[in-house]
Amino acid sequence: MKVFSFLTLAAFGVKTIVTRGDTPIVGTVIVTDRCNLHCKHCSVNNITSVMHPYRQILHEMRRLYKMGVRILFFCGGETFLWRDGRRTLRDLVADAKRMGFLIVNVVTNGTFPLNLPEADLILLSLDGDRARHNAVRGDTYDLIMKNIAEATTDNICLYMAVNQINKHAVRAVCETAKRTKNVRAVSFNFHTPYPDTRELALTKRDKARVCAVISRMMRAGAPVFNLRSAFPHIVNGTFPTPCRQCVVIEDGKVSVCGRCIHVPGLCDECGYFFVAEYTLLFRGDVRVMADMLRTYLKYI
Ligand code: SF4
Ligand code: SF4
Repeated sequence: MKVFSFLTLAAFGVKTIVTRGDTPIVGTVIVTDRCNLHCKHCSVNNITSVMHPYRQILHEMRRLYKMGVRILFFCGGETFLWRDGRRTLRDLVADAKRMGFLIVNVVTNGTFPLNLPEADLILLSLDGDRARHNAVRGDTYDLIMKNIAEATTDNICLYMAVNQINKHAVRAVCETAKRTKNVRAVSFNFHTPYPDTRELALTKRDKARVCAVISRMMRAGAPVFNLRSAFPHIVNGTFPTPCRQCVVIEDGKVSVCGRCIHVPGLCDECGYFFVAEYTLLFRGDVRVMADMLRTYLKYI
């Protein structure tokens, strides 16, 4: 991370903690909900299948920037499917950088060639070893690993959503992150149970076991892009929700924290580690602050 970016984000953090402000700093633009996969745990693919136009996305990015957002994510559906004429996702990332966003990340299912050197991180979903990943995401593991091997840059962070199908594959994904070329780290979330995927939800005991495995792997040198200091809150569900410093924009509509905020009761079962990490940080948790400093400087 550049010194200027670091200082800007640190100043925002201090101001938010001192003033208890809720100006957003993290923003997500949904470029399309169209997706080539139908993962078992997913409730948000192919609802409209609309590719939002370039001009509209540009306007949404400017809107987020004016609101104060400096860490931007592009999300889908599948982001690499996005096109408008000759423009591709790579153009959007380059535009975001030119606009002044300090960190620009992309979320993808990894089934398309990975040529996105302008992105700070490519968050690529890998949901287990071959068998368990394919059980969740269809027969895509080998294609994804091939795309990672052939990626043009080493800015990939694996992204695993842990659920009842793959809860015993956390160690395998840590090991994959450690040994695979072009992969910088792995970031975990727990399944957030939408009404149609409740059966995949983890129990508190499952969550405690998974966090214990992740902690062990971190101590053994696995590159994990999560904050261990937040684990007890994630296991016990004792972090504040939603994250008021995070916003999502989809087709012109802004939601605080995530699209999931519109599902009644879902925030009480939130499995997104970033929500715990950011809300604890902005509440002034000193251990989380120190942990975030270390982790972000190491992986971005
Ligand atoms: S790749 Fe992502 S958007 Fe597509 S079905 Fe899977 S989880 Fe949903
Ligand atoms: S479930 Fe609630 S707290 Fe969790 S990401 Fe969605 S909106 Fe945020």
